[in-house]
Parts: sequence; C-alpha cells; structure tokens
Amino acid sequence: MQCPRCTVTLEAVAPDERTPEVQGLGCTRCGGVWLEQQDLSRLEQVVDVQWLELRHVPPPELQAELLTCPRCVPARHLGKVQSERDRKVVLDVCGHCHGAWLDGGELEAIQQKGLVAALVDAVRFLMRR
Ligand SMILES: [Zn+2]
Ligand SMILES: [Zn+2]
Repeated sequence: MQCPRCTVTLEAVAPDERTPEVQGLGCTRCGGVWLEQQDLSRLEQVVDVQWLELRHVPPPELQAELLTCPRCVPARHLGKVQSERDRKVVLDVCGHCHGAWLDGGELEAIQQKGLVAALVDAVRFLMRR
C-alpha cells in the first residue's frame, strides 16, 4: 500500500509507544500513518470507544484538499474529521473501509497529548453529527 500524499510504500509502525498494541502503516517520507479498521478496533479495545461511529464521516461538501484512500479500489476520497480540542489534528477517514490517515505534523501534535486521546476526540466529533 502506498502513502496517499507521496508514492512511498507504507511500512508497519506503532504510532504511539504508549499503546504498542495499536499498529498502523507509516510513511517514511512525510511521517503520516494509516490506521486500518482493525487497527482502530484494537484501539477500541484499549479505550472502549464505539469506532463503528466512524461510518458517520462528514459529507463531501465539508471536505477540503481531498486525499485518496490507499486501500480502496476503485479509489475513494477520504473524509475530514477535525479534533475539537486541537484544531491542528485532522483525521482523513475512509467511509468505505473505515481506515484513517494521520499526517506527519498532526501525528506530532497528537503525540504531545497521546494518540489515543486525540483519536477519542475525533470519535466524539463524529458521534455528534
Ligand atoms: Zn508520505
Ligand atoms: Zn478505504
């Protein structure tokens, strides 16, 4: 699978060392991380959040600078989900395979307060829609 921003092949990573059970696929060039639905499910086991709510991605008209899902064929655009507590944190979520993309800069901001906490923010945002 390739990075949605670069053409670099993604490699297995644990994006947050505090939760090594949560695995993703990382880009060595831009530092972004792709989390598949099963990765997010593992996160659900850790933080007890209803990740199925990721189905409620924002409608296309709210999205800007669309990325393409690295998983889905034919290609699908990812939806934008903004963290309420940290506006720099934007998840790009696939409404089809329910994977999520985190950009490198976002991941830095996230790691300052913990990946899990930031993702929980995103889930809460989704559940209100
Ligand atoms: Zn990249
Ligand atoms: Zn997808």
